[in-house]
Amino acid sequence: MQKYTKISAIQEILLSEKRKGKKIGFVPTMGFLHEGHLTLAERARQENDIVVMSIFVNPLQFGPNEDFESYPRDPERDAGLAQSAGVDMLFLPEAEEMYSGSSIKMHVTERTDVLCGSRREGHFDGVATVVSKLFNIAGPDNAYFGLKDAQQVAVIEGLVNDLNFPVNIVRVPTVREEDGLAKSSRNVYLSEAEREEAPVLYRSLMDAETFISEGESNPETIISHIQNRITAETSGEIDYIEIYSFPELKEIRELHGEFIIALAVKFQKARLIDNIIIKRTQEEKQNV
Ligand code: AMP
Repeated sequence: MQKYTKISAIQEILLSEKRKGKKIGFVPTMGFLHEGHLTLAERARQENDIVVMSIFVNPLQFGPNEDFESYPRDPERDAGLAQSAGVDMLFLPEAEEMYSGSSIKMHVTERTDVLCGSRREGHFDGVATVVSKLFNIAGPDNAYFGLKDAQQVAVIEGLVNDLNFPVNIVRVPTVREEDGLAKSSRNVYLSEAEREEAPVLYRSLMDAETFISEGESNPETIISHIQNRITAETSGEIDYIEIYSFPELKEIRELHGEFIIALAVKFQKARLIDNIIIKRTQEEKQNV
């Protein structure tokens, strides 16, 4: 595995590999790698000739009171893990390398007025900026994103469509701990007691799925079930529990088509997000 910190160096070699007809798979991350990230890399390994991973804690996507400074970092451990997952090229730029100019500002206008987008001002503008730059640097055929960050997937799909990036976005299902907690670099912020409670987030989403399969079709009823369980069984403060069509992220009155149930819960030091995406046809609805 080769490491790069300079844009021109990795861009040049990837351009020449592309000209030789090599297929490039790209996995953008902020590092502190866990099995979620590695699953993306392994999937990229199976589907491409060259696997590129970036590790960059992107200052643009953090708000002023967020955890940019304290975000967990361990580049040496990450390099070993990336190599074992089959990554060929690891791109680790400094912020100065990525943001030397400031003549363009991106602003995402769709799919950002709900969920994390409405609570983290400018977050998805920062994500769209860095992902656009990384796509131009890596020139991937396929880029891998986790559904753990489903709104990010929705925004990136909109970005690729609007700006005509010649890249296929691959949605990868959420990788979980055995007890159901979605793997996240931020799980290290949880206290021991909070770590015990945290799987309730996913369990409450699973309850919701069961209620829906039994015929419940009112989003409000589902939301209050989830709310009640999280309030009763955790010390976390609910930031949001919301249901929208996916990937459009528009309000829906009845649960059919493809929709997302997404939540964010704040613990002492960690804000955890999770979601499930459900596809329910009109037929299934009538058969209940
Ligand atoms: P991050 O380093 O948190 O920015 O994540 C980098 C990529 O890994 C994003 O596409 C995330 O959605 C994805 N990812 C993070 N956690 C998971 C997980 N538990 N399962 C699947 N993908 C994940």
